[in-house]
Amino acid sequence: MIRYALVCDRRHDFEVWFKNSADYDKQVKRSLVSCPACGSTKVEKALMAPSLGAGTKKKRSSEARPIEAPAMPEPESAPAEQPSPVAMISPQEQEFRAKLKELREHLTKNADNVGKKFPEEARKMHYGEIEHRSIYGEASPEDAKELHEEGIEFHPLPILPDERN
Ligand SMILES: [Zn+2]
Repeated sequence: MIRYALVCDRRHDFEVWFKNSADYDKQVKRSLVSCPACGSTKVEKALMAPSLGAGTKKKRSSEARPIEAPAMPEPESAPAEQPSPVAMISPQEQEFRAKLKELREHLTKNADNVGKKFPEEARKMHYGEIEHRSIYGEASPEDAKELHEEGIEFHPLPILPDERN
């Protein structure tokens, strides 16, 4: 027995078993071989070698791989020539975030957390009642406005993008 990969005049691919190549010639000449998709009897051998396809299939199924991941794209199929805008922005964004985090960590590490007493403490420092030091805490919008009007300089703590929600 011999298996041929065939193709009809409408480019449907299919495979048919024959006793030998002479049997194939005979059956095709008598229009005994028809395309399973469209019924056309105008068929010819496909260009690919049928034995190659069968061998590959057999080899693959014998591999001890229970599930082939169909969702995984082949590395060769990934288009490398056109990176997406996200991929181009991402490293910068990450660097920016890392710097923000660093600054935030530095501030919180080297400053006293005075919490809700921030406006009070800031004022005391500004008017020389206590020694200057780095502090951080909470200030309501009104407090912030008043502090600014009194000429007391402070800055909001940098917030990481994913902490905003
Ligand atoms: Zn067909």
